[in-house]
Parts: sequence; structure tokens; C-alpha cells
Amino acid sequence: MPPLLEINNISVSYGPVKALEEVSLEIREGEVVALLGANGAGKTSLLNAISRLVPVSGGGIKYCNRDLTGVRADKVVRKGIAQCPEGRMIFPDLTVMENLHLGAYIVRDEADFKQNLEHAFNYFPVLSDRRNQKGGTLSGGEQQMLALARALMSSPRLLMLDEPSLGLAPKIIQQIFQIITRINREDNVTIFLVEQNANEALLHSNRGYVIENGRITMSGSSADLRKDPRIIEAYLGGS
Ligand code: ATP
Repeated sequence: MPPLLEINNISVSYGPVKALEEVSLEIREGEVVALLGANGAGKTSLLNAISRLVPVSGGGIKYCNRDLTGVRADKVVRKGIAQCPEGRMIFPDLTVMENLHLGAYIVRDEADFKQNLEHAFNYFPVLSDRRNQKGGTLSGGEQQMLALARALMSSPRLLMLDEPSLGLAPKIIQQIFQIITRINREDNVTIFLVEQNANEALLHSNRGYVIENGRITMSGSSADLRKDPRIIEAYLGGS
């Protein structure tokens, strides 16, 4: 079986700034794969390259064994790839329901919409209670839940999460990661988890990659990475 996503030697530049240099990685169906890296390492650029929001040079990106680099950004979601952006990026002046509607823009059938909504509310019952409340009035944790639920509304096969724990209290982080694990196990959604919180990311993933200055510098099983002295020193606070 070819990997669900195969990235081969891609580079991304913003003018003179090289954000990614010859990055290769693969994600197999059903996996949770973590991408660890510091601020500015290139994590968001990699997600945006997959979502076709930034142009890539060199190599290529294959999804379901087909070239993704020729696919327009608005078609990527239709192919089953959803990105949950850093900083949540929910629409603060729209209600919870309106935000969820936007996540489902590719879902034409009303029955499918209802099913996806019920499914999202099953993971996040608090959003059902707050369905008519404006997004901007939700707590930080609830806004992250809304961003996740919005991404789920397109029934993705590959869900890409950009720093879902950012700025959240430890108790909420635990809840969010438990739900991410459930989405992977119960719905068989493949997950690409971009995180600065290396400890949680490695606890809740099968494999991981480390990105530094736009290059992949380490990879392995999450269990092995957690024991690696370089990871402990640089990403796990030396503990
Ligand atoms: P963070 O966690 O801080 O978002 P990151 O690992 O996601 O960091 P990127 O946002 O991908 O990193 O940034 C990688 C590099 O590209 C950084 O040097 C950043 O300053 C630069 N960069 C990102 N976006 C742009 C842009 N639109 N124009 C110019 N440079 C950019």
C-alpha cells in the first residue's frame, strides 16, 4: 500500500526567505504523525504547502498516490484533506452554527450535513449547547473545539492540526488530545499533528518528525523519539 500522503523533497520560499528546504516525509492511512519544531521552523509552511496555499518547488506531493501539486487550494478539501489552522481562525462574529456551516461548504446533501453535525456535536457537546452563540464569545478551549469541529464537518480522510494546544490550560489540552485520539481511532481519520508541545504530541502519535530551520532533522516512532536525548534536551525541557 502506498502512503496516504507522500512528500518528496519539496522547498518553499517567501521571496528571499527559505521556509522549507528539501523536505520529505510520509503519512500512512490510519496513523497519527507528529511534526515537532520551534517557532519559525517551517511547520505551518509545510501544512500550507500540502493545502496548496503556498507554491512549492522541487520534488512533489502525492496524496492517494496522485500528484497533489497541480490541485487548486479549493479542491484540496474536496479530496478529503482538512486543515485546522494555528490560532483557530474561527469567525468571531458568526455563530457556532454559522462557523460549522462554513466548514461544510463542500457538503451539498442536507442529510450528510446533519449527520456530520451530529457527529461533531457528539465529540463536542458543549458546542451543541452554544450553537447560537457567537464564536468570539466562546472560551479559548471552546474556540479550539469549534475549529476542530469545523474541520470535521467536511468528513476529512486526512486531518491536519496546527498547534491545537496553543494557549490552552493543561486540563483543556488533555481533553483536546483525548478527542483527537478518538477521532483517529473511532473514525479512522489519519492525523498530521503539528505541535510545539512535544510531550503531548509524542504521547498521542504513532510516529514523529522534527523540523529545524526548514529541514527535517529527525524521525522515528514516537516512543523512540520520547527517549532520544536530543529530543529530551531540546523539546521535553530536559526532563
Ligand atoms: P510558528 O510556530 O511560529 O508559526 P512555524 O514552524 O509554523 O512557526 P512558519 O510559519 O512556517 O514556521 O515559518 C517558517 C519561516 O518562514 C519563518 O522564518 C517565517 O518567518 C517565514 N515566513 C512564514 N510566512 C511568511 C510570509 N508570508 N512571508 C515571509 N516569510 C514568511
